[in-house]
Amino acid sequence: MLKSFKVMLVPNNRQRTRLFQFAGTARFAYNWALRKDLDAYEAGELFISNFDLHKKFTVLRNSAEYEWLRTISNNVPKQAIKDCVDAYQKFFKKQSGRPRFKSKRRGDFSFYQDTDKIRITATHVKLETVAMSKKRNKQQLNWFRLAEVGRIPLGVKYKEPRITFDGLNWWLSVAVEFADPKPVENCGDSIGIDLGIKTLATCSDGTIYPNINRTAKVRRLKKKQRRLQRSISRKYEMNKSKGESYSKTRNIIKSEKKLLRIHHRLADIRQNYRHQITSAIIGRKPNPIVLEDLNVRGMMSNRHLAKAVQEQGFYEFRRQIEYKAAWSGLRVVIADRFYPSSKTCIACGHVKKNLRLSERIYHCENCGNVIDRDLQAAINLKRYAS
Ligand SMILES: [Zn+2]
Repeated sequence: MLKSFKVMLVPNNRQRTRLFQFAGTARFAYNWALRKDLDAYEAGELFISNFDLHKKFTVLRNSAEYEWLRTISNNVPKQAIKDCVDAYQKFFKKQSGRPRFKSKRRGDFSFYQDTDKIRITATHVKLETVAMSKKRNKQQLNWFRLAEVGRIPLGVKYKEPRITFDGLNWWLSVAVEFADPKPVENCGDSIGIDLGIKTLATCSDGTIYPNINRTAKVRRLKKKQRRLQRSISRKYEMNKSKGESYSKTRNIIKSEKKLLRIHHRLADIRQNYRHQITSAIIGRKPNPIVLEDLNVRGMMSNRHLAKAVQEQGFYEFRRQIEYKAAWSGLRVVIADRFYPSSKTCIACGHVKKNLRLSERIYHCENCGNVIDRDLQAAINLKRYAS
């Protein structure tokens, strides 16, 4: 099975400049290839092969006008063109929509590294042609410091090495092939997990993981975020009334950067929390793990819930449970969307048809059982698999 690893890079200024140039080259090559493909498509011509595109690109690369392309490893445009061919092929076979051009404004900053040339140590990663000079002290520039020591396994074959920029930081991601784990023998009891807004996760064994978005720390950050957002839009309005039509001032750029930083901080806190919980659950080796098939899209259409649902990241939670379970050889069962996990009384099996969302405590009309709604849902989910 493939495991992927993602680690932040700590580039110096010169390295950072090069990373943007690399990503720019990848974007350029992708868009160039897509233009060629779409022109051919509109002219009713045949599919242009990866090979032909690459041959044409080499001519371009060797021309005087595009001299700058030669300062960047050929593998960067090569992969970008291949990506474009893949995307275009899907469109050609009507498997997906028309591919879009990559844009700097939309934040398309990423590029690949050659799997054979990438070098990774516990602390650094070596990327190609960051330094053009072969001198030893210049070659140093090819080595990027990693923000986490020893995170990526060493001495193995790396697949799909990719460098991306998230608007604030640069990241390296690689995939490594591992042997499939054997199904665990001494695993614990099965578990049902109910996901929600009030508490993120309620487990059938009684463990409760609260909603981190309701903690003081996160609230404080969110408040800061809202304030900054308002102040930025006010600044834009002020510019406009001066007749400058929504132009960015140095001040706005500074504030937007600050806002982005808060945004990332919040995303990091939430993601970190999800990882802690999913790891804790998997660590108890429950088998199988039963989750609800959440209708996230349906929940998002309720505008009172949309924001809270989005902040909880249910899909991400499920994704983490699924891959971590697979790594540990545990089974995951997804309960049918129409399985009435909240509405069924665990004591007598009565199904309460008109259970309102506001009823946090379940009172059974049939047998008088009183139980926390989420805990009951989790227990019912556990029963779903047995
Ligand atoms: Zn009952």
